[in-house]
Amino acid sequence: MLTCAGLNLAAAVVFGVILSDWQQKRILEQVDRRLRDAARVVGAELADQIESGRSEALQERVRRLGREAETRFTLVALDGSVLADSQRTTLADVEAMDNHRDRPEIVQARTRGEGRSLRPSATLAATQRYFALRVEAANGKPIGFVRAALPVDSIEVQTAAVRRLIWSLVAIVGLCVLGLSYWIVGHIIRPVGSLTEAAEAIASGDYRHRVYVDNRDELGTLARTFNQMSQQLDARMKHLGQTGDRQLTVLGGMIEGVIAVDARRRIVLANRAAGELFEFKPTAAEGRPLLEVVRNHALHEAVTTALSTGQSQRLEAKSSMPHPAATIQYVDIHVQPLPGAPCPGVVLVMQDTTELRRLESLRRDFIANVSHELKTPLSSIKAYAETLRNGALHDPEASQKFLARIEEQADRLHHLIMDMLMLARIESDQQVFDIVPVCVAEIVARCLEDHRSAAEAKRISLAVDMDGAPSDAWSQCSVRADREGLRDILDNLIDNAIKYTPEEGRVTVGWRCGQLRSEERGARSEAEGARSEERGARSEEPAAHIQHPVAQIFVRDTGIGIKPEDQRRVFERFYRVDKARSRELGGTGLGLSIVKHLVQAFGGKVGVVSEPGKGSTFTVELPLCEAAAKL
Ligand code: ADP
Repeated sequence: MLTCAGLNLAAAVVFGVILSDWQQKRILEQVDRRLRDAARVVGAELADQIESGRSEALQERVRRLGREAETRFTLVALDGSVLADSQRTTLADVEAMDNHRDRPEIVQARTRGEGRSLRPSATLAATQRYFALRVEAANGKPIGFVRAALPVDSIEVQTAAVRRLIWSLVAIVGLCVLGLSYWIVGHIIRPVGSLTEAAEAIASGDYRHRVYVDNRDELGTLARTFNQMSQQLDARMKHLGQTGDRQLTVLGGMIEGVIAVDARRRIVLANRAAGELFEFKPTAAEGRPLLEVVRNHALHEAVTTALSTGQSQRLEAKSSMPHPAATIQYVDIHVQPLPGAPCPGVVLVMQDTTELRRLESLRRDFIANVSHELKTPLSSIKAYAETLRNGALHDPEASQKFLARIEEQADRLHHLIMDMLMLARIESDQQVFDIVPVCVAEIVARCLEDHRSAAEAKRISLAVDMDGAPSDAWSQCSVRADREGLRDILDNLIDNAIKYTPEEGRVTVGWRCGQLRSEERGARSEAEGARSEERGARSEEPAAHIQHPVAQIFVRDTGIGIKPEDQRRVFERFYRVDKARSRELGGTGLGLSIVKHLVQAFGGKVGVVSEPGKGSTFTVELPLCEAAAKL
């Protein structure tokens, strides 16, 4: 606005100056014309008298003419002497006037017929406009000069009035120009500025920017269209953002790792699972070469082949990073080229198959174990039956012995199948447990009673260890479990304790109940350990300060003990430290596995502390029932 107003004002001022100069010239021209006309009239009228020289009558005539025309008239002879002057009263005054020969207007008139000048009067001491005219006789001979003059003051008064008018006009025009500039800025330049600002905002990503222009002209239409455009852009960008976010959330939530690679084998996108599989940060990997992020040459080759042939590839990569469970990590990778020629990139979909492989191997081991376990007693039965058929049947003593063996092996088989069925039922959640408060003292007493004869047979002392607990709370201690399930747990543990304790040994069963700190639990939690193994992560002990309303039931023996490396494995199916010994003792290798699964089903934990040659302590931790917890 300032530029526009400044330019327009400057133009108005220049116009004013030119106009005022021009009007001054015009006024002078008019004055000159008037002076010339007056001089002509006077010259024509007084030509005869000019020729005859100075006279009182001439002076009087000139004075009168001067008064009438309000103009000073001076008659000058050819030699420059003044003949009459309308501003002088007497002839003597005229005679006293100096010679006018050298006055500029007279000099000009002598040569050119007329002359003019603007100068202070030598006789009147005021600036005058002079106009001199050469007067000629009828024959054309110059006889003198008539000079008409007007004081400049009166001209200046006139020009000043016109100049004032001009400058007033200039001021009005200037104000109009200012107003016009303001209007132009308001209606044209400002909307254009707002539009430019909005366009810049949108270019920098601010799609919410709107233009506020209320013009009813094309600019207004442009602004409204612009607003509609930015509104649509905003909606589209939001939609795009939401779609992108959704895709990222889906990708981030996927268990499978996904990596998108461009034609130059640089990572365009990678999800969290991919980062976890190959130990890199997905956000930091974007834009980096695949080989630099995932150091696997087989994978790199598969990507190269997929890019060049456009055919999908499949491979299984062994992770170079150590798996948390210290096993090798297996990753199944599918390399899918993107459509287009040349191939613009590939998408890698990766799946951790370590767990699958582990389960597969567990399944294989299980089948092998089951077949082996079933085969052994069956082979024995078959062998005894054949022996009987081949003649032993007729030997009463031998036949009795062999039949007893067959019965024994059949019992073993039965025992094994029952154990397997039970384990299968617990694992598949088909076993329905009746979880009720179960009095520990009562169940322990019954179990001890059941095993007393077996213990006595080996002269093993079987007792309850009160461990200095206050008898009331101790005898009323109840856990939340299935009655039969808890019996099975204790039966298995006491049976093992008696089996693996030499004669004259000692087996004690005890329990403690209350808020126990995790560190007080002592025994390594096998249930937890086994679960974490299944997950492939090392178990972490809960924080020491956490209070657990639990009951700990332990079965302690002075038996052969278990080596530290075997302690974590005895809870696995069919795992036996000494296979022959276990079989000889009638073990199936499933007892502790059943204990582990039952305890887990009741929300508890089982663990073992043992020293080879000295004995073992199996501890079962079960949730305390509320009434007992209050005690
Ligand atoms: P089994 O039927 O062979 O006893 P379990 O699952 O009950 O099977 O036990 C697995 C293995 O753990 C046993 O074979 C034995 O080697 C070991 N074990 C269990 N309890 C004891 C114990 N109290 N003392 C020493 N070793 C034991």
